[in-house]
Formats: sequence, structure tokens, C-alpha cells
Amino acid sequence: MVATEQLNATLVRVTFGGAGFAQFEDRPETDKYVKLKFTAPDSLPVTRTYTVRRVDHDARTIDIDFVIHGDEGLAGPWAAGARPGDRLTMIGPGGGYRPDPAADWHLFLGDAAGLPAIAAALDVLPQDAVGHAFIEVDTDAAIIPVETPEGVEIEWVVNSAHDADALAVVLAQFEWPAGAPQVFAHGERESMKALRPVLFEQHGLDRGHVSLSGYWARGRTEDRFQAEKREPIGQIL
Ligand SMILES: Cc1cc2nc3c(=O)[nH]c(=O)nc-3n(C[C@H](O)[C@H](O)[C@H](O)COP(=O)(O)OP(=O)(O)OC[C@H]3O[C@@H](n4cnc5c(N)ncnc54)[C@H](O)[C@@H]3O)c2cc1C
Repeated sequence: MVATEQLNATLVRVTFGGAGFAQFEDRPETDKYVKLKFTAPDSLPVTRTYTVRRVDHDARTIDIDFVIHGDEGLAGPWAAGARPGDRLTMIGPGGGYRPDPAADWHLFLGDAAGLPAIAAALDVLPQDAVGHAFIEVDTDAAIIPVETPEGVEIEWVVNSAHDADALAVVLAQFEWPAGAPQVFAHGERESMKALRPVLFEQHGLDRGHVSLSGYWARGRTEDRFQAEKREPIGQIL
């Protein structure tokens, strides 16, 4: 990696570059993600999944924004201490969503881990796009400036108590613009599950217009979180 930038106390942008960039095959999706390999002293390499926030083809660099969530885990602590010259194995990218310019309006929901993918989508929206983004954060200090087209509003939902239904409560009270939204909702698993009744029962959305998934789960390492996708607790759609 070539640089780090502390975006706030709990978010660090790591810029990757160097000879490895030649093997990176970019994709059109805005939620493109890579698998990063970490080694703990007592285990085989461990995988962690991160969004590619931005690719700069001129500078031949890739930005990834890491949430610093304390001392637990591998990726968060690695990013907190990363220095230029550190090396990491990156696999991918994959991807599944890009905003549809034909959508009547856009609805984004997420937390600090989902923000890089939301911000990447906001970057490619046409200037006349209409939409609303709800971003959940632990504290006011976690709020960062995010560029949006004029018709897209960002609403920060401060949820220091970590209530799983905080986003769902705000969404249920939101007065929806006319027309059908394209929805991109990614963040903590239980908070994403809490959105289902609002999206599918209260508003009767078609699943085909909704990209909804957990990016992590409270109290679980990513290994456990990924394994639970095969169990009822881990299933969202
Ligand atoms: C497609 C995809 C894209 C993602 N993109 C990003 C991204 O761009 N930036 C980003 O920061 N994360 C992103 N994530 C989430 C990231 O993969 C997880 O947060 C991962 O668990 C972090 O690994 P770790 O080694 O730091 O912690 P782990 O070892 O996995 O977990 C250790 C402990 O920390 C907790 N924890 C993990 N993540 C968080 C968090 N965000 N906030 C609070 N507690 C947490 C866990 O519940 C666990 O108790 C993405 C996930 C997916 C599936």
C-alpha cells in the first residue's frame, strides 16, 4: 500500500498501488468488493471482505475505507496501523449492483461499513438523480462529508445504543417520493433484517429492485458471519 488517510477517528482510507495494480481487473459495479488475506500467528490465512471505494486508473491506485472498530479482529487493527510499504494479498473484485439511471429515485441504507459502497454509487449518479441515503453511525464524530447530486439527501442516524431497528424505525416514518425506488441496503446483519417489513410489507417493493444484505454481524468474526449464511440466522432474502 502507498498511503493512508484518517477520514475520522473510526474510518481510515488505505490506498493500494504498486506492481500488483496491473492484475486488478476493474468492473462496472459500484459495490465491487475484494477479499483480503490476513495471517494470524496460529492459523492459515484468513479472509476479510472490503469494498473498493475508488479506483484511480491514472495513478494506478485502489482506495479502501476501513472501519476501525476497536482492538478485535484482523482487518480493522491492520488498517489502524498500516504504513506505506505494507503488503497485502487481494483477490477479486466481485460486484452485484450499479445504480440504474432509469430508476424513479434511489434509496440507500447502511452503516459505516456500507458507506464506501453507498458513496461509490453516489459518485456515478447522474446530476439530476433523486434519492435519499440513511447512514447509521455510532456517534456524531463518525459523520464525514459525502458528495451527492443536489437531489439526493443524506440523513445520518446516530445509534450509540446499537439498536438493531434504528434504521428501520427512521425508514418507516420517512415520506417516500413518488415512483418506485431502486434500493441498496448493506450493513450490520440484524439491522438489515429489520428493514424487511418496511421495504416489502409497508411499501410492497419488488425484490428485484432491492439489493439487501449483511456486511457483518455484531459479535461475530467474518468467518462465523459467512458460515452463518448457511443457517437460518444468516439468511436475509
Ligand atoms: C461485500 C462486503 C463489503 C464490505 N465492505 C466494507 C468496507 O468497505 N469497509 C469496512 O470497514 N467493512 C466492510 N465490510 C465489513 C467487513 O468485512 C467486516 O466488518 C469484517 O468483519 C471486518 O473484519 P475484522 O478482521 O476487522 O473483524 P472480525 O475479526 O471479522 O470481527 C471481530 C469483531 O469485530 C466486530 N466487527 C466487525 N466489523 C465491525 C464493524 N464494522 N463495526 C463494529 N464491530 C465490528 C465483529 O462483530 C467481531 O465481534 C464489508 C463486508 C462485505 C461482505
